Amino acid sequence: MFFAISITDRREDLEYDGGVMTCDSCGAYGRYQIFMVCTVLYLFFIPVWRWNKRYYVETSCCHTVYELDPSVGEAIAGGEQIEIRETDLNRIRKGQQYKKCIYCGYETAEDFDYCPKCGNRF
Ligand SMILES: [Zn+2]
Ligand SMILES: [Zn+2]
Repeated sequence: MFFAISITDRREDLEYDGGVMTCDSCGAYGRYQIFMVCTVLYLFFIPVWRWNKRYYVETSCCHTVYELDPSVGEAIAGGEQIEIRETDLNRIRKGQQYKKCIYCGYETAEDFDYCPKCGNRF
């Protein structure tokens, strides 16, 4: 008997238009792009269960990544266009100088496109 079950982490971009902000990492004008990472269980290539949802914000200017307060992330995922305050953000990756894998937590200052530990895209 063959069961096609697989579990992977996947990234989903959320709709969010918070307007233009001034980036506190690079000082340029940018926009926030919100995305969610969750663990998905696939059964015969159909996503049947999602859990471990985490929300992140990436700036369009310098690609700094922040961890977003989950309650704010949930609201945006639910379609609310609420304002993101600095207190909702916890910076985990600054620009191009420093990378932390959002999937497994691996940290590197090297310019890898893919995480050397788990193989996911940075
Ligand atoms: Zn920036
Ligand atoms: Zn990784």
